[in-house]
Amino acid sequence: MKLQVIGDPVLHSKSPVIHGAMLEALGLDVPYAARVVRSGELPQYLAWARENGVTGFNATMPHKEALIELLDGVVGDAALFGAVNTVCLREGRWIGYNTDGGGALAALEGAGLWPAGTVVVLGAGGAAKAVALELAQAGAERVWVCNRTLSRAEELCRRDPRGVLVPQGASPDTLSRLCRDAELLVNCTDLGMAGCPHQFEDFSFLDALPPEAGVFDLIYHPAETQLLARARRRGLRGIGGLPMLVGQAVLALELFLDRPLDRGRMAAVASAALGT
Ligand code: NAP
Repeated sequence: MKLQVIGDPVLHSKSPVIHGAMLEALGLDVPYAARVVRSGELPQYLAWARENGVTGFNATMPHKEALIELLDGVVGDAALFGAVNTVCLREGRWIGYNTDGGGALAALEGAGLWPAGTVVVLGAGGAAKAVALELAQAGAERVWVCNRTLSRAEELCRRDPRGVLVPQGASPDTLSRLCRDAELLVNCTDLGMAGCPHQFEDFSFLDALPPEAGVFDLIYHPAETQLLARARRRGLRGIGGLPMLVGQAVLALELFLDRPLDRGRMAAVASAALGT
């Protein structure tokens, strides 16, 4: 058995540390390494991986969507999201899965935030797609998908056959109006991420959230974003991106090993490896 994470860039990925720690804790001598695979090189990689004993791999940008066409099968959330983050060799066939949404739900559950009512999702990229569609499946009543580029939010919401997801713009007025009735706000944009030149220009939507609401910022670098710090100062419950990163990895390892794991123990091992 041999595991990898592929992408470009990928050498900064925390997956080798997380998976390495979990595999060691399980007493398994299984290598897990990062490998640069450039856009357009996926067919060659799949052939190489098969010949070289790779039994599973995680995929990050730019491959999550491109993989769909190249695999032998795509199941569950991966089919719903149109994006793959975990691939396993099952009886000689490459099968694609997606554990991002499950990781987000695990993070929310761990923080005691299980939204059944109204959620405001900021962003409409790959992460927003996983979070918004997973929340709709998990029973949220209404998910407002708010994005700078409205057409992208509209496209995302069309994937939800139940009509729980509704597209919106992301002006300060719109966000404040929608936040009034929300029990959870999730930031799935790059705003506040280390290396991103932009930041929220206006945090006034936080004042509109009810006092018992939660704020989930998917960004994990830095661990405490300005959004999260401001939310906490207002007395709102806050959660950063690391628990989701860990949660999706635990679910991916269950798929690689094809057996259930003690998820709480694995999450603790992975978090400790990340120094959190
Ligand atoms: P993506 O597909 O590139 O989407 C980026 C989103 O951010 C888009 O909605 C984009 O809006 C918005 N955005 C970017 N710059 C903006 C600006 N200046 N003003 C307003 N909106 C802006 O990226 P992604 O893969 O979804 O990742 C988004 C974030 O989630 C990243 O910070 C990533 O680190 C984090 N993430 C965390 C985890 C985890 O496990 N914790 C997992 C995945 C992603 P437009 O559509 O208008 O461009």
